Order: sequence, then structure tokens, then C-alpha cells
Amino acid sequence: MRNKSLRFTQIIYSLVVILGVFFLSVIISFILVRSFRRTTEDKISYFVSANAHQMELNVNDYLNNVQKVTALLFSDKDYYEYDATDESMTEYEKIQHETMILTRIVDLGMMNNYCDFGIVYANDNSAGWISQVTAQMFNDGGIYSYFSSAIADDNLKQDAWLVNVCGNTDRIYYVKRLNPNSVCVVSFYISELENVLAVPSELSDMNIRLVTRDGQVIYSDDHEEEGLPMDAGIMNIIGDNENITAVNNEYLITSNSLSNGWKVVCSMPADSVMADLVSVIRALVIIVTLITVLVVLTMLLITSRLNDSVKVVVDDLDVKAKTDLMTGLLNKTSFRNLTESSLEAYDGKQAIAFLMFDLDNFKDVNDMAGHNVGDEVIKRMGNLLKEVFAPEEALIGRIGGDEFAVYNVYKKISLEEAQTRVHDLTLEFYDRFMSEFKPENEQYKLTVSSGVYVTGPGEYKFDDLYQKTDVALYISKKGGKSKPTFI
Ligand code: GH3
Ligand code: MG
Repeated sequence: MRNKSLRFTQIIYSLVVILGVFFLSVIISFILVRSFRRTTEDKISYFVSANAHQMELNVNDYLNNVQKVTALLFSDKDYYEYDATDESMTEYEKIQHETMILTRIVDLGMMNNYCDFGIVYANDNSAGWISQVTAQMFNDGGIYSYFSSAIADDNLKQDAWLVNVCGNTDRIYYVKRLNPNSVCVVSFYISELENVLAVPSELSDMNIRLVTRDGQVIYSDDHEEEGLPMDAGIMNIIGDNENITAVNNEYLITSNSLSNGWKVVCSMPADSVMADLVSVIRALVIIVTLITVLVVLTMLLITSRLNDSVKVVVDDLDVKAKTDLMTGLLNKTSFRNLTESSLEAYDGKQAIAFLMFDLDNFKDVNDMAGHNVGDEVIKRMGNLLKEVFAPEEALIGRIGGDEFAVYNVYKKISLEEAQTRVHDLTLEFYDRFMSEFKPENEQYKLTVSSGVYVTGPGEYKFDDLYQKTDVALYISKKGGKSKPTFI
């Protein structure tokens, strides 16, 4: 009963601890995940926006370079004032001028870097280097009016950046007005931007785009997007902002405006931003589970150890409570209880034996030799009873000061056989008593009287056996002591 409730308490205790550790871990994980998520987002945002800013600088540099090189043509009025439509010039003069311009452009090394680098005049003639691809787009004329009209009137610099010129998605064009009848036309391959818009390996999931003011993708590392309008979700996040870094459920986005109004837009799927977080959460869950299991196992170990030691103490107390400390025999109460239990359980018993022993003249030992010697006699008497009756697996108790009792059941032998057996044992006990206590007998006339009752199985209570045997003991005492009485 006590064990059961101990185990129940232990289970409840373990459950409470498991739940406690679990909830504590959940709360700690939640706090850690939140702060980790925030710092991760911040760090990645910072990193992405720093990279995006670098891209912006790179592209700006690249475009500025195109503008700077074009501006070199303004260094000498021979180049920017020449007008091929001027009727007053002879053909020879014109050829001279145009050759000079071409030489100048070749000298500047422009032909190596650009697809087009030339001047287009109002009569659709050109000087410098206008590529075949560009010329063929305007086979039917109109090249000047196309590029000239691309430059907005309100543009102070009188220049413009163009993409998708006559459906060409390979090149980016830059046009700049030289004089009322000529514009400089420069173009380069969009693929050149691959070098300036390279995705850093640490941000392999990042997508980089160069986008026009109205959201058309000029360049993307996902080339399929080129020439198409940019993803509406990303456009919405960017809105009218010049520069922005934003995180929503789908993307981490940074957008930086270039000097010509175009934008460098970097986006990263939120999933990949949080990929690290997922692995951290996974590791955290494993760690928390392991810690919980460890804590619970340790607790179970400790409680079971504790239970064991408590059990040892309890068992020890149990034994002490049942035992007569002087002799190590059962005390009166436990002898009675164990005898009652045995009487109640019918388990095929054939015979029951109940014996009572009382020392004769024991008071004289106390009076003449002292209580200590008396105690020793009681102990030796207990030992002698054990030696004779314990091998029989009998219950042996000290039920009074110098009074002892033995109870035994016989299952494998008949009543008669049991009577003979008990009779023989009693006589053996007397023989051994006489030799064990010979000196005390001589000095104090110490002997022992007993009552011996052997009966068949029946409805007996302890008191029934006790009273009958006590009568037998009384008979022995009255009949001159130092002998057993069998009934
Ligand atoms: P009888 O022959 O009629 O049995 O008389 P007796 O002298 O043996 O004395 P009795 O059985 O009437 O009483 C037992 C005595 O044992 C009483 C008490 O002083 C003594 N006694 C009881 N317990 C102890 C004990 O633990 N130690 C000692 N030394 N003496 C005890
Ligand atoms: Mg006595």
C-alpha cells in the first residue's frame, strides 16, 4: 500500500517535472528563436543592403563611365560642332571631319568596349562607329529622329538611357545631344553587367536585377526575367522609395536608385533567409528533448535510489518493530499477528503446534546475580529456542519477561506424526537446556516449564491456542516445574 502510493507520487512528480522542463524549454526556445530571428533578419538585411549598395555603386560607375567617355567628345569643338547636314561644307571637308572623328574614337579605345560609339546626324548619316546591328534596325531611315526624340526636352544634360531599342534586348543605349543636328549614340551588351552585378557566393539565393524607372527588368541573374515587367509583389514593396530595405513574409528586398533613375533590386526568398533559423530550431528542439530526457532519467534514478534507501530504512524499522531486541525473536505483538495470519490462511495444513515456555525461579537469578546476568539468561534461552525450533521454520516469540512461545504448522505429515515430532523436539530442547544452563541450575535452581499443544487443522484464534497451552504450562508449574505438559 505504502509502496503503491510512493510509486504514484513518483510518477506524478516525474510528470510534473517533465511538464515543467518541457514548458520551460518551450519558453526559452521561443525567446531564443525570436531574438535569433530578429538578429538574423537584421544581419542578413544589413549584408544584403550593403551588397546591393555595392552593386549600385558598380553599376553607377559603369554607367558614369559611359557618360564620361561620351563627354570626351566635347573636349574639342571639332567633334561636337561638326554638322553633317551643313550644306555649306564640301564633301571633301565632310569626309575629313568624319575621318577625324573616327580616328578620335579609335584613339579613345571606345571600339573595344562598346558595340556602338558614333554620331548620328539629322540627315541619318553617321560618323564614328555605328554597328551593323544598330544600322539594320533603321534600314528604312529614321535613326536620328529615333535617338534624338528619346532625349527629353526638360533634361538639362540632354542625354538618355534606352533599352529595348527596336525590340533589341541585348544592348543598352546611351544617347547624348552634341548639337541641334547630331546626337552621340553609345551602346554596350547587357551581359557586360554580369561582372558588375555578380551575386556573392554567401548570398547564392539572392536575385539581382537592374530595373527601369517604370519597373521593366533590364538585367537579371535569372535571365528569363529580362525584358519583362518585374514581379508585382516586389514592385509593391518598393513603391516610390528611392532606396529601401524591407522584409515581408515572402522576400527580403533592397532597392537602390541609380543616378539615371534605374534601380538595382536585390531580393531573397524569406525561406532561405530563415533556413539557418530552421536548422537552429531543429538543433534547439533536439537539445531540449535530450536535456528533458536526461533530467527525467536523472530524477528517476535519484528517486529510485532514494526509494531504495528509504525502503532499507523502512524495512529496518519494520524488522525492529517486529522484533524483541534482547533476543532477536518475534515480540509479543508480531508473534500474535503472524500466528493469526497463518491460522487464517488454510493452505493444506495438517497439524498445528503451539508451545509456551516459562523459566522457573528466574527472579532468583535477577535477585542474586543481578539484572544483567538475568538478561544474558534470557538471550541464551532465546538462542536455544532458535537452535531447536528455527530449522522447523516455526514462529518463535518472546511473549513475556521470561516467557516464550513457539508456533508451527505441519503440512506434509499427519497429526500423529506431528505430535511425535513436537514431542521429540520438546525433549531435545529440555536435554539441551539442562546442559546449557547447568551452572545456573546449580546456583539458582533455574529450570524451564512448558505447555505443549498439538492439534489438527480447524477454526482457531490465537487466544484459543494461547489459553489451552497456558493451562498446560500452569499444570507444569503447579506440578513441580522443570517439565513439559502435553495436551
Ligand atoms: P516462576 O518460577 O513461577 O516462573 O517464577 P519466576 O521467578 O520465574 O518469576 P516470574 O516468571 O513470575 O516472573 C518473571 C520475572 O522476570 C519478573 C521480572 O522481574 C523478570 N524480568 C522480566 N523481564 C525481564 C528482563 O528483561 N530482564 C531481566 N533480567 N528480568 C526480567
Ligand atoms: Mg518464570
